[in-house]
Amino acid sequence: MNDVRHLVVVLGDQLDLDSAVWDGFDPAQDAVWMCEAREEATHVPSSLQRIAVFLSGMRHFAQALRERGLSVEYLARHEGSLAQALGARLRARAPRAVRISEPGEWRVLDGLQAAASDAGVALEVLEDRHFLCSRDEFGAHVKGRKAWRMEYFYREMRRRHGVLMEGAQPAGGQWNYDAENRQGFGPQGPGFVPPPTRFTPDAITEEVLREVRERFAGHPGELAEFGWPVQRSQALQVLREFIDERLPHFGRWQDALWEGQPWLYHSHLSVALNLKWLHPREVIAAAEEAWRQGRAPLAAAEGFIRQILGWREYVRGVYWQRMPGYAALNALDAREDLPAWYWTGDVPMACLRDAIGQTLRLGYAHHIQRLMVTGLYALLHGVQPRQVHAWYLSVYVDAVEWVELPNTLGMSQYADDGLMASKPYAATGKYIERMSDHCRGCRFDPALRTGPKACPYTTLYWDFLLRHAERFAGHPRMALQIRNADRLDRNERAAVVRRAGAVRQGRWDEG
Ligand SMILES: Cc1cc2nc3c(=O)[nH]c(=O)nc-3n(C[C@H](O)[C@H](O)[C@H](O)COP(=O)(O)OP(=O)(O)OC[C@H]3O[C@@H](n4cnc5c(N)ncnc54)[C@H](O)[C@@H]3O)c2cc1C
Ligand code: SF4
Repeated sequence: MNDVRHLVVVLGDQLDLDSAVWDGFDPAQDAVWMCEAREEATHVPSSLQRIAVFLSGMRHFAQALRERGLSVEYLARHEGSLAQALGARLRARAPRAVRISEPGEWRVLDGLQAAASDAGVALEVLEDRHFLCSRDEFGAHVKGRKAWRMEYFYREMRRRHGVLMEGAQPAGGQWNYDAENRQGFGPQGPGFVPPPTRFTPDAITEEVLREVRERFAGHPGELAEFGWPVQRSQALQVLREFIDERLPHFGRWQDALWEGQPWLYHSHLSVALNLKWLHPREVIAAAEEAWRQGRAPLAAAEGFIRQILGWREYVRGVYWQRMPGYAALNALDAREDLPAWYWTGDVPMACLRDAIGQTLRLGYAHHIQRLMVTGLYALLHGVQPRQVHAWYLSVYVDAVEWVELPNTLGMSQYADDGLMASKPYAATGKYIERMSDHCRGCRFDPALRTGPKACPYTTLYWDFLLRHAERFAGHPRMALQIRNADRLDRNERAAVVRRAGAVRQGRWDEG
């Protein structure tokens, strides 16, 4: 028996009133279906913050749809999977078709397709208009290219969308202002940083927080400081504040780290973008306008826009071009388990303790903490990329697989053999010392490679070069580092390997 014409499925990361699923939506014939499926929080052990932001966002969105007169079938607290729930709904009462915007995860798409097909109902997957580059356009961009590089893609996107352009030329005559950006704070630190607004939970969010504490007890993280936006009006406030207060300094300090300062000059907009309360076009336009009106330097606006028009669109393209095989890649044959302290932050390294601590408290870390603190350590330790991926997908409020996986597996772990990054992001503790104040308060010394005081990053960096010498000896951007490792004498090599073994086993004070 047919009940409705189109059953429109809205997932937790599709809270977007401009999506293609609303084209031609007729409240008299069509209905909306939303489901809080437990499996979405347990297929990796999702953090309490991440579960709460998704559930509260979904409940607020369902309320907004009902206020517009739409009929919403909302399954709260469903104990199974999305595919099971949809399958049961379709078998009980079959609509003429199910419509959905492209999901953000291959696993979800696969499951929903199977559920619809088993029930004999057509599933119409509509292009996700949230993105500025469609999957087909990205396919056309990379077709026939030997090396995929974000920079060429980004320039193409700037031209195609007329962003920061003066005629056919990039505004200011340069595509890239990295030379002006990416400084450390210096010994005096960041000084006063305008604190971001954190939102006091309303009644819906309070209820979600209560339920999440009960139903997901034992999951990583904490909820005491939950303050994320959970609807579009709040996301717009975050955007306005960022543009007015922090964008002018964004580029200069986008790579800097500072103990006890989780937010710095970042936008904290990833969750608002990924759950689709904001369209990237409006975020990019706000940054460009701030520059054109003289409220932000070009280098800052360009550095910020590059992340959204460039990296964000690029990683989505990579994900859909390469899935499902991409998730299984392990080019460096990394075999170690993820150390258990990634889930607690109970570790003596000051930089890791700070980054993991704030991650569990807030569900947030900025890019350099993800890439050059937690990611770098996992790379040097030699952790299996799948385990690193499960951790990143679990702990951050903005984690959706299309964006998390290429960043983790490709950019940070080099598991895709250089598709995302032209060389492994391998560095010693000296990098962290240069960009932060962490080493001042740490019991290890970033300048030491061996011995009980040696910084684990520094030891593991040299161990990484020794382990991968053959693979990277002819690599144009790694050969110099490999030659340096080649110069270590036998005793020094043995000391590096000994200390690396101790560090891997958490015997921090053994040389
Ligand atoms: C190992 C690893 C895992 C990551 N996992 C995620 C993830 O699950 N979800 C996620 O949104 N980002 C992820 N990133 C990218 C980036 O770290 C976050 O987008 C950023 O830290 C979010 O904070 P922000 O909004 O304050 O970003 P800002 O520093 O203010 O940057 C502005 C925006 O640019 C976009 N952006 C910046 N860098 C990237 C990037 N490398 N890829 C895609 N978009 C980018 C984001 O939408 C971000 O909101 C990951 C990076 C690494 C190295
Ligand atoms: S010494 Fe090493 S472990 Fe300690 S804070 Fe510096 S980089 Fe991190």
